[in-house]
This record gives sequence, structure tokens and C-alpha cells, in this order.
Amino acid sequence: MPRKDGESDNEYRSRVIDPISDSFCAAKWLNATIWLGHGGTASCHHPPAHNIDKEEIKTNPSAIHNTRHKKKMRQMMLDGTRPKECEYCWKIEDMEKDSDGNRPVSDRTFKTVIYSDEDIERIATADTSDDVNLKTLEIAFDRTCQFACSYCNPAFSTTWVKDIRNNGGYENIKSDARGHFIDDAPYADPFDKDEENPYVKAFWDWWPELSLELEELRITGGEPTMSDSVWGLFDWFKENADTHPNAKNMRFAINSNLGAKPALIQKLAEATQHVNKFHLYSSGEAVGIQGEYIRDGLDWNQWKQNSVILCREGNIAGFHMMMTINALCLDTITEFLDWVLNMKREFGSQNPRFSVNILRFPSFQSPLTLPDHLRTLYHNELKAWLNGVRDRNEHDQKGQPLVAPWEQEQVTRLIEYLDVVKTPHRNTADRKLLEHDFRVFYEQYDKRRGKDFRKAFPRLVEWYDSLEFTPLEEPEDDIQKPKGHREVEVYAHREVNEDGVVEVKEVRNRTNSAGEVVHGTPSKALKGRKTGESQDDYDDEKYADEPDYKKKRAGSSIGWDPDADGLGGQ
Ligand code: SF4
Repeated sequence: MPRKDGESDNEYRSRVIDPISDSFCAAKWLNATIWLGHGGTASCHHPPAHNIDKEEIKTNPSAIHNTRHKKKMRQMMLDGTRPKECEYCWKIEDMEKDSDGNRPVSDRTFKTVIYSDEDIERIATADTSDDVNLKTLEIAFDRTCQFACSYCNPAFSTTWVKDIRNNGGYENIKSDARGHFIDDAPYADPFDKDEENPYVKAFWDWWPELSLELEELRITGGEPTMSDSVWGLFDWFKENADTHPNAKNMRFAINSNLGAKPALIQKLAEATQHVNKFHLYSSGEAVGIQGEYIRDGLDWNQWKQNSVILCREGNIAGFHMMMTINALCLDTITEFLDWVLNMKREFGSQNPRFSVNILRFPSFQSPLTLPDHLRTLYHNELKAWLNGVRDRNEHDQKGQPLVAPWEQEQVTRLIEYLDVVKTPHRNTADRKLLEHDFRVFYEQYDKRRGKDFRKAFPRLVEWYDSLEFTPLEEPEDDIQKPKGHREVEVYAHREVNEDGVVEVKEVRNRTNSAGEVVHGTPSKALKGRKTGESQDDYDDEKYADEPDYKKKRAGSSIGWDPDADGLGGQ
């Protein structure tokens, strides 16, 4: 067992992780998120995505995960060096104490404890140049999604793409988040429908080997219920349930926004009957009009009903609620957690379990943008909620604690985050800049989406109205123009800097292979664009004597290709 009976997270870390090194995290070896649509990957959802080498996967399909970049980060972790791309965890660990007075526990412990001690010993003693088969994999086939959440962007949602194509890029955003909202991120969908996607091909080439050891395959998106490939995977489980050696053991999970119409939710409930271990992941963090404001496309009542249908009629082994903690959700987060408690009372402590994930990008939507008095208010409300949970100490029908200790620890961590972390992440823009962008973004969001910030968030209105912003004197000419106004296309050249921050370095006209400026969109001329990757900790020369080094630079996971632009993880 990964965790010994009664062992706390800190005890586990001292026993298993610390003896390997001060910066070891099993997620670098055994976990991955892979965006097959455009060929990007990351070890978990905190570090920025980096490119998959299109050449390498022709001969080694496992390189959709075992990239050179990850191998380098693995070596650093074994050496006890902190990869900068994992800043999210170091930030948590560098806080003195959590609100219970304990050494703070970061995700690298939560993402290591899920694997067996044997697997951890195996990877910690293997050569870092070796390829490793994944145990847990999150994969996206495309970006089709009917939602356009405020903290998402066009790289992950076709509804966001529509917003940008119809209305143009968001104007006057000045902080690092600018690059997320100024064009429709065409690099995220670089293949025509009739063109074979080499990353999807590599996935299926690797699948016979991968499926034998994989413990969890989780589909994200876009919205998985809108993807034919996902229904194809449900068919694979139906057809292989009795013949494949691992089909019954493997957890199959989808990250759904649960916003589909009831008929599709019923279809999903039926499809889960053929999967032995089906897990449902969804996201939510605020209720009612506030939830609908943050997660554009959400119908709160429908969403609650869909959750109940799947808990009642689906063959669900686990229901996981991934809360994305942004500035706006804190206003009704305790009401949302109360809804979670009611679900647990009816369907058991597992339905749902919840995790608390603090939003990092776009940084102006982070809780750190809020003024101290609101942070203190939310801090106190959350603390009171957690105290209530601890006082009541409720258990479900099977005698399990309604709120597991690790769930309580996550809330504790958020309470502490709201209290002691007074500054934004390293090298992000200062508070004034974040406030400026918060205001200019939501003013435009309201107009485009037919929403009303002041109506949705009465407790924030006074602060919101006090936020200073500088109106544009001239329309920006370096962002995508609205439909009907695009004479010359422009796109942003983005880079992920050494702090993991996505920056727009340069804005260029879109040109075709002959160097001519492209008119209209979308265009085949954009197909060469690639996602960015973290530049940190690279020593390009290290690979300089490798065959085809120069050819591999573009789009490879070694070094930075100055002609490629990109976008890090959310
Ligand atoms: S960000 Fe944290 S959990 Fe993710 S790979 Fe890095 S150390 Fe592990």
C-alpha cells in the first residue's frame, strides 16, 4: 500500500519521498497530461505544457510522454534540484506552516502517494534516459466544448474560439495573461478533419503496451461527451471487458463539465455500465448565478440534476469534484461546499470527493488579486465552514467520514493561502496591474457574454468599481480583429519564461509559406505553429552532439524554437 495505516501526508513524505530527494515527485514519471490535438504534454496541470517531438514519436510512440524535457526534469528531481516549472508546489512548501501548524503539504506529495512503494523505488533507481510506461494518464483529443469559462481560453474551448472570432481579441490586457485572450489559438487545432493527427496515431500505436499497465485513463478536453473518440473508447471497453487482461482493472475516467442535455447524460449513464471502474471528474466551485457567471454555458440547476442522474443511474466507482479556486468563486464557495456535503449525505462520502486547486493563470483571476478585506472575509467564512465540519464529524452510511482528512487538509491549505501569501507569484505583474486587467477583462466579458458582474457579485461591487484602469486611446492593432474586420491577420508569438509565465514576445502578421501576408482565417499557413515550452533549466549544448539536433529543435522538447509560439497550461 502506498500509505501505511494511519500515516499522515507529512509522515508519508518523510518515509518515502525525502529519502529520495528534497524535490522528488512521482508525477514526472508516472503521470501525464497530453493534448493530442496539438501535441503538448505536462506532468500535471501545474507546469506549463511543452512540445512533443513529432519526429521522435514516429519511432518511439511513448515519446508523447517520455519527452527529453521530462527526462531532464526527472534527473533534476533525483539530484534534489527544484525544476522551476513546478513553482506551484515550491510556493506551497515554502510557506512556514499550514493553519493547523503543520509543515505544508504540496501536490507533489498528493501526486506521489497514489503509487505503490515498489513503483516509486523502481523509477527512483532507474536511469533517467529510460522510457517509463504511465500509470495515470489524462488525455485530450480536441478542444470542442460548449462552455467558455472565464478562466479558460481558446486553446481549450471552441466556444471561446467563437467569442474571439466574432468579437476579436480582448483588448487592453497588460499582464502575462494577455496572450491567452488575444487570438483564437489556432495552434491548438492544427490538423484538418481529414488529415491524420500524428499524436493521436502515436497514442494508438503505444496503446497495446500502455494499456497493459495503465491504472487510469482520464479523458479531458474540450468536453469529452462531445468527442466521437471518447464514445469509441467506451466501445473499446464494452468489446474488451472480458478478453483484455487489464480492461477490468483499469480506471476509465472522463473530465466532463456535466453541462450536456439530459438525453446525453442518460447515454453516458448507460455507457458506464460496461466499464468496471468508471470515474467521473467534474468542476465546480460556486453556486447559482455566480457559478453561471464564472463558467459561461453552465445552467446551475441542470448541472445539479445531471450530477444526481449519474450518481443514481450510472455505474460510478468515484465522483471527483475538482474545484478551481479563482477570485470570484470565493464569494459562494462555502455554499458550493454545502451542496457537496448534501450530495455526500445522499450518495456516500465518495460522491463526490473534492479537491482544491488554486488557479495560477490567468493571474488576474487568481484570489491574490482580491483586496485584503475580501480575502480576510473569505478566509474567515471558510474557516467557520471547516470548523463546522470538524465539530459535526459526520459519517456516511458505510461509516466513512463525510469529509476525508485529505479533503480537510486541502481546505486548510486554501485557508492558509488566503491568509499568509500576500504577494502574487514570482515575477508576475504587481497588484495594480492585476486589478487593471481584472476590470478591463470583466467589462468586455460582460458585453460579449450578456452578463452583469455587478448583479452577480453584489459583495464585490464597491471594490470592483474602485479599480482603476487606463482606457485605450487607440484600438490595439496587435490582436485578432472581430469578424468582418480582418484585413490582415495577426498572431502573438508567445514564450513561456523561466518562471513558467506565458509572455507575448512579439506580434506578427500571419504569413503563408511564401512569406505572403495571409488574409482571412483559419488558414493552412498557421499549421506550422507550435505550443511553447518552459525555457528554464535547459542546456541546449548538452544535446548538440546528437544526430539531427538542429532538425529536432523545432517543436522538440529540447531548447526553444524562436519561430514557434505557444501557450502554457492553464
Ligand atoms: S507541479 Fe508539483 S505535482 Fe506537478 S509535477 Fe511538479 S512537483 Fe509534481
